[in-house]
Amino acid sequence: MSGGVRVDLQDVSVIYKGGVVALQGVSLAVEPGEFVALLGPSGSGKSTLLRTINGLVPYTNGEVSVGGVRVGPRTWKVVRAEVAMVFQTAALVPRATVLDNVLAGALRGLDPWRAALGWWPLAWRQEACALLAEVGLREDHLYRKALSLSGGEQQRVGIARAFMAKPKVLLADEPVASLDPTTSRDVLALIRRLAADRKCAVLCSLHQMDLARAYADRVVALRAATVRWCGVMENFDEGVQAKIFDHEHN
Ligand code: ADP
Repeated sequence: MSGGVRVDLQDVSVIYKGGVVALQGVSLAVEPGEFVALLGPSGSGKSTLLRTINGLVPYTNGEVSVGGVRVGPRTWKVVRAEVAMVFQTAALVPRATVLDNVLAGALRGLDPWRAALGWWPLAWRQEACALLAEVGLREDHLYRKALSLSGGEQQRVGIARAFMAKPKVLLADEPVASLDPTTSRDVLALIRRLAADRKCAVLCSLHQMDLARAYADRVVALRAATVRWCGVMENFDEGVQAKIFDHEHN
């Protein structure tokens, strides 16, 4: 098992070209094996925050570190080897098989031309099959084209692909926003279980507070680019929720 690392943000600000302040003085930490839900209205900076952690968005001030390594242009490669991302839709290669989509998650360390020829090491194939079983897909799914799966099944494949990379940190950007309530719960339970088994740190943006309550260890709530609340879910009461989500446009 890969084991996790700590993610640390200290006083981080992001100003996009054109002057939009997307994060301002944000500090937070996620410990190995911890599942932290990132809540906040649309436009509050959740996606930006997740993207600073793997260097997709450069920060303007403060410091982001993953496993003690400062995230910056010189370390992006090292950091991205430890961080996997899951998005709202799985963004699979539609005409490739389910198995090949999962195997693609392990591409680090192997020339892409080998993959293009279908030369996957046997150990990887075994690992991908085991992961697909873990996310609840059957053997007869393996050689089906990704486009033939339902949205929930595709997200399961996306999760298997993410874990195929043996991440120490998983960033999930609204991973259940396009799924029905039951499938959303299944998918979050899956992320939580796979991450906990591997001591992988999870930072997951969500819209629904009931889902955060059911699956997160802790909540970080953003509003207008700043952290407005941070704590364990039990203390995330209606008063706090109202402060963060009411009057979204102020
Ligand atoms: P959330 O994920 O909470 O919806 P985002 O991080 O996507 O929030 O956006 C935070 C703010 O930054 C918003 O005002 C958004 O319009 C702005 N923003 C996001 N991406 C860019 C970009 N590439 N360039 C300029 N502004 C951006």
